[in-house]
Amino acid sequence: MSEFFNQISRRRFLATTGAAASAVLLKGCLGNPPEPGGAAQASLVEGIKLTPETTPETTSVNLGYIPIVEAAPLIIAKELGFFKRWGMPNVKLSKQASWGSMRDNTEIGSAGGGVDGGQYQMPMPHLITEGLITKNNQKIPMYLLAQLNTQGNGIAIASKHQGKNIGLDLAKGNSKGIFDQLKSNKTPFTAAFTFAKVNQEFWIRYWLAAGGINPDTDVKLIPVPAAQTVANMRTETMDAFSTGDPWPALIAREKIGYLAMLTGQMWKAHPEEYLALRADWVDKHPKATKALLKAVMEAQVWLDNFANRDAAAAILGRRNYFNLTPTFLRDALQGKYDMGEGQKIDDKSMAVLYWKDGRGNVSYPYKSHDLWFITESLRWGFLTPETLGASKTLPEAFTYAKQLIDKVNREDIWKQAAQEALAQGATFTAADIPASTSRGVETFFDGVSFDPENPTAYLQSLKIKKIAV
Ligand code: CA
Repeated sequence: MSEFFNQISRRRFLATTGAAASAVLLKGCLGNPPEPGGAAQASLVEGIKLTPETTPETTSVNLGYIPIVEAAPLIIAKELGFFKRWGMPNVKLSKQASWGSMRDNTEIGSAGGGVDGGQYQMPMPHLITEGLITKNNQKIPMYLLAQLNTQGNGIAIASKHQGKNIGLDLAKGNSKGIFDQLKSNKTPFTAAFTFAKVNQEFWIRYWLAAGGINPDTDVKLIPVPAAQTVANMRTETMDAFSTGDPWPALIAREKIGYLAMLTGQMWKAHPEEYLALRADWVDKHPKATKALLKAVMEAQVWLDNFANRDAAAAILGRRNYFNLTPTFLRDALQGKYDMGEGQKIDDKSMAVLYWKDGRGNVSYPYKSHDLWFITESLRWGFLTPETLGASKTLPEAFTYAKQLIDKVNREDIWKQAAQEALAQGATFTAADIPASTSRGVETFFDGVSFDPENPTAYLQSLKIKKIAV
């Protein structure tokens, strides 16, 4: 699409959705009764009563984000005035060029021109806390405060592989033969993700291994900055790319590739990205932290209403955020995916979800999910019992992992914020606050299950892994 056409369609789209968004906002202002999880309740003027107990210590914070749908709760909380409404009018959102910059700016902190926290893949906050991915292995304690979304990611495959049955179930598609052939031709199947040893690499590794393909020996895995991925796929130097919307859909629409699968097909309602902040900032500003959480929760309730998603696409598409024609975002946000090879998905339950996903509360940071990310890190040797503490055995490693999770995961602050928000005028109900910090047993598309009470059994059940269990 030409830049000129892009601009025209953007302007036209904003003109129409802008009106729709204002109508929605006006409706909220006229004092319609709250409909939790139902119709839009956004309001730019409705005030929240701040008492001395709930007045933030500061009105500003600097949050980093990456322009993918995971960042939507932060952008919507700012643009619809939710941060302001809960007492934080000076929240600054800083777009990051890459996940590496996000990590570096977290280490620098806002005092040094970096950020106080923001959006993270998992388990970045735990790895930063332990000094495992920071410069000079400096330990920067972080708190995980909320999950931003579940689902909304996928794996795109280069068009040259059309018709080869490379889909969700690689075993059924008999892909091992194709991958082996490429390997023997010295052009191994090359799959990319945007940052190593976090979500996107986990999704591609899980998918390959479930199909009988060893991600460490049968293919080549490389980190590639998101901005380069479309170009790399076009020049055919890359066979697959694992990332968040809108990138997989963009690749499909540009006909450079097709979608092999959505991560929601692989693991329904899977945990995705999180809001975390430096612990020093939270410890100094406990009330401001809760105000931020209340605004993010309100944005998540708003985003979860599909009637608001076209308006969300218009806001996210703005030049200072994603800089994309909203039509590229609209379909993915509505659960519409052109999978290529004539296959289409039109299923809202497969879209990115922000508040309710059929399994629990999306925003609540279940500790059982932190444990899965750490268990998966052990599976592939990203973490070893030794790097997870001084111990050498798996049971000791899990004991240490649980201590680390208890230190980093602050679901207690999330719960306090949610309870306070209920008393102050939240757009959700008490029933939305989970009773347990475990979401229970998780089941994947290949029948494998993860019981957070017994992560060793999960590792034992996996056929392809690096760790000896
Ligand atoms: Ca993601």
